[in-house]
Amino acid sequence: MTIFQPFFLTSAIPYVNSEPHLGHALELVQSDVLARYQRLRGFELRFTSGTDDNSLKNVRAADAAGTTPAELVARHGAGFRRLAEALHVAHDDFIHTASDARHAPAVHALWRRCAENGDVYKKSYRGLYCVGCEHFLRESEIVHGKCPVHPEPLELLEEENWFFRLSRYEPAILLAIQSNQLQILPAERRHEVLQFIPSGLSDFSISRSRVRAKGWGISVPGDETQVIYVWFDALANYLSVLGYPNEELFRRFWLDSAERWHIIGKDIVRFHAVYWPGILLSAGLPLPTSLRVHGFVTANGKKIGKSLGNTVDPFRLVARYGVDAVRYYLLSHLHTSKDSDFREDLLSTAYTAELAGKLGNLLQRVCALVERHDVVIATTNLEPELCEVARSAEARVADAIDEFALHDALGAIFELVAAANRYVDSRAPWQLAKSATNAAALERCLSTLVHALGVTARLLTPFLPSTARAIVARLEPRPHVGPPLFPALRRD
Ligand SMILES: [Zn+2]
Repeated sequence: MTIFQPFFLTSAIPYVNSEPHLGHALELVQSDVLARYQRLRGFELRFTSGTDDNSLKNVRAADAAGTTPAELVARHGAGFRRLAEALHVAHDDFIHTASDARHAPAVHALWRRCAENGDVYKKSYRGLYCVGCEHFLRESEIVHGKCPVHPEPLELLEEENWFFRLSRYEPAILLAIQSNQLQILPAERRHEVLQFIPSGLSDFSISRSRVRAKGWGISVPGDETQVIYVWFDALANYLSVLGYPNEELFRRFWLDSAERWHIIGKDIVRFHAVYWPGILLSAGLPLPTSLRVHGFVTANGKKIGKSLGNTVDPFRLVARYGVDAVRYYLLSHLHTSKDSDFREDLLSTAYTAELAGKLGNLLQRVCALVERHDVVIATTNLEPELCEVARSAEARVADAIDEFALHDALGAIFELVAAANRYVDSRAPWQLAKSATNAAALERCLSTLVHALGVTARLLTPFLPSTARAIVARLEPRPHVGPPLFPALRRD
């Protein structure tokens, strides 16, 4: 790998009709891990996120709240930004599509490119529309008269709209996915897309009437009666955040980058795997190289959402358990790509039993022994058995991250921690310290443990950055005792 190749990585931009919930936290944290990991591998990384402000759902939420869409998206948008900060998600840029001056010109430029290539045309359309998806559903997608994902009733709409000629790009999109030029992980999501495409890609509406949108949104170039449909607008954020079409950032991180990854939820795979590549092909731009698709966070088996009345406030969790404990729980106890159920009792148990009980305790024991017996830490002549566990953990973590199985990566790291704890118990360094004849064995044992802790800290860096830093700070310049990494939780 050439050092400092550009690498562009994004999460999706959520619509902001309500405060952020735990599902948003999951996507932010997952994408942050991948960004930090690729940065550590030596890529020149650009990591962005933002908010989808121009959605019709925002207009309806503003109506319901008795405010304007502009006020609502500004207020909620700030909440999403705060959430990213609270979770230590280190974006390079964060775009609000309504207020960011870069967005509308980029959307217009993209529209014009597609129009110049003959892929934008006007026609009258009638169909059943799901406001949840912001999308007309096909007959075959409707289950018992409803969208399979959203509880709201479908709306029968008829209007004249601008359409994008997606049908023209069906063979090229299919080939890109089949050849893995556009990788989709996990395999079952790729499979679903490959099943869907040959059933026929219809052209799709990329505008709606300004009246229906209540004047909210970006005007269609040359047609003031229409605003640009939410998906064309929202997907374009991945270019506008780079200053498309003219900025150097766009050239570097979209045109010339080694990788372009989108981290998204399973409900928007089709828009990213089919519509977005279609638009990019029309505009003559490179496709994303990877879509990594996570599942939903559920609470008692139901998707979390304001409309479903079962939101979990991620800010409260961070305040109670700390950032890294919340990151740890989301990344290791929830399956990376399948739906998982959030349970606060399990977060609490993970904090006490795993973070404090295994990791924190190991660090404390090792540092205390080194300090008490004034042991000199060596970096050679270590015990091969535990070093082998550390080496294998490194390989497994790399594989698991590549496969978008972040829970497996953390599993491998905590197996190393468990092996180190067993090693302490079996070698009983406090016994070795009782006799001067065991000085070499004691030094070897504790040096091996310090090595294992060093590897643990390095592997944890993208997942739990503050904890990893705290471990390193405790081990250097030589191991010393300090306050617990994970203090006992207060009762309430
Ligand atoms: Zn829907």
